[in-house]
Amino acid sequence: MARFSAFLIVVSLAIPVAARAQSPMPSVRPVVVQGAMQIEIEKLASRLDRATVERVGGWTFWRGTLDGYPVIVSKTLKGVSNAAAATVIAVERYHPIAIINQGTAGGHDPRLHLYDIVLGTSAVNLGAFKSPYRPAGAGSNTLDWTPLDLMAADGSAANDPNARKLSSFKGHESLLAAARGVTSLYTRGRIVEGTIGSSDVWNDEVDRVARLHAQYGTEVEEMETASAAQIAGLLDVPFLGIRVVSDNITNGGAYDPKTSEACEDFVYQVVKAYISKLKR
Ligand code: SAH
Repeated sequence: MARFSAFLIVVSLAIPVAARAQSPMPSVRPVVVQGAMQIEIEKLASRLDRATVERVGGWTFWRGTLDGYPVIVSKTLKGVSNAAAATVIAVERYHPIAIINQGTAGGHDPRLHLYDIVLGTSAVNLGAFKSPYRPAGAGSNTLDWTPLDLMAADGSAANDPNARKLSSFKGHESLLAAARGVTSLYTRGRIVEGTIGSSDVWNDEVDRVARLHAQYGTEVEEMETASAAQIAGLLDVPFLGIRVVSDNITNGGAYDPKTSEACEDFVYQVVKAYISKLKR
């Protein structure tokens, strides 16, 4: 009996060591595709092979494969805080090789129509501003507000003129290249490149939208991309925002939630193109 348990101990100690020596940690890092609402991720999640669902608090992740490569679809929930947290969880748990944030957005440019898609060459934080002083009773006008770069060095954001700009995050060239390579497969609208603006505000004041467009070059607004881009940047993960115009207050385009499915179709092609270029 004693000899038998000694044997068990030796075996149980030996197996993990041997396993570690033989198979190094799997080095295939997944692609993560994010969307805020169920309608923005459902079609993508349903196209994963052998998908399993993982829940972390309020966030859901569908882990599967696409063309044999690991892909994770993440429902971030709406808004900048939820998107930031979902991005941290994804990076910490799954160590993605790249992150795509996609879904619906409101047009800031009257030339953009429903079903047009914007590839986010950059994303800006439209939620950080400093108002000028106004005494009691003087009211409020957001057109007077100046931006705050929350990524500026400590202590400089309020006074340094260099910090009086919006935090801006670039889309990664490798993901942009994959997206550019499949634009001809998208037939529902045009595909343009430009700036995606994000905040927890849905802006339907046409003068404010025109100002944001003129001053910061935003093509569309929504509530997640810049936030996820900020976190991906700090954690050194290549990132791209891809947004479909679901509404456009500047030209009367009324909200059409079905645009999200067209976006998913395009993003599916982008992910396939991206993983086909990765070394396996
Ligand atoms: N009717 C929708 C409302 C969505 S709230 C619903 O069924 O819940 C805002 C969400 O839609 C965010 O995730 C945001 O990214 C996106 N969005 C689409 N158009 C937007 C716009 N014009 N401004 C802000 N967010 C917009």
